[in-house]
Amino acid sequence: MPGLWRLRLPLPWPLVPHGNAYAVADGDGLLLVDTGIYSDQSIRELERALDQCGLSLDMVHRIVCTHAHADHAGQAMTIKERTGAEILMHRNVAHMTGYVKDSAAVLNSRLDRALRCGVPVASVNRQREARRDMATGFDRVAVADRELADGVTIPSDLGELVAIETPGHAPSHVCLHQPGRRLLFSGDHLLGRVSLYYDVGYTPDPAGEFLQSLEKVSGLGARLCLSGHGKPVSAIPELIAANKAAVEGRLAAIRAELGSGQRTAWELTSKLYEGMPEEPRIGWFLPETLAYLTHLQRLGEVTLEPGNEIDLWAAAATESNSGAAA
Ligand SMILES: [Zn+2]
Ligand SMILES: [Zn+2]
Repeated sequence: MPGLWRLRLPLPWPLVPHGNAYAVADGDGLLLVDTGIYSDQSIRELERALDQCGLSLDMVHRIVCTHAHADHAGQAMTIKERTGAEILMHRNVAHMTGYVKDSAAVLNSRLDRALRCGVPVASVNRQREARRDMATGFDRVAVADRELADGVTIPSDLGELVAIETPGHAPSHVCLHQPGRRLLFSGDHLLGRVSLYYDVGYTPDPAGEFLQSLEKVSGLGARLCLSGHGKPVSAIPELIAANKAAVEGRLAAIRAELGSGQRTAWELTSKLYEGMPEEPRIGWFLPETLAYLTHLQRLGEVTLEPGNEIDLWAAAATESNSGAAA
């Protein structure tokens, strides 16, 4: 499509080896949708990708971050410094700012949470050691010049892009919709394959928010999805249905497990992701399980048992099961 380029940028993560930024023509300048992660090499990698399209970094006059994860906003400030571009981002970026300002404190509180979830002390200590000196992937705290919210429009040669708030994957998540062309820059809200991830602890119900965001995007009727990772996808209704089914499947699996007794979040995660290596099980899938438990708690289906050092989750008493217990 003239005026639109996908910039495939490398990532240092084994499970997610690359991410996309998009360059969009806007008059004699460029809108950059997402920035790639920050590292020693990252600005050169972005420049090389732009160069391959016959573009250059100097042309960037506006940066939109679909959300404040390192692979989407990591080098926003460096690009701004180089080009003077303005940065647009959602206001709910506390999940990023706290981490970039003091990553050790955030890591410690996540690992303390892992202990409360029932992860064995030895496993938590291994993670503490492995992640001690891990880079954040940010050049510094990214500061928006303008806030993205529902209905904010951004000019481009493709037509006006409209911001659609889509929390769930991250509290700061926004998609960009071009109604005339039925294009959707979907960030990590919709990817070419189902891959669920939630930032937990910043909003009341990340999984519920994700389900609502899927509904919202479903109503747009977009026909081409330009996602934060992988190739463009056209089967958007199918993708939305597959994401919903995946969430429903996880919720059902947790209901079934709790139907046979109390469990820790770690026991549930280990059951749901049997065979998955320890590191992603703790860092990625345990928060996912917590998101579902929180969602079910809000629905009144599960309860957190009070007074334990390690949190125990249980199916909420209903008329039928309390009757059976009596
Ligand atoms: Zn993300
Ligand atoms: Zn991403």
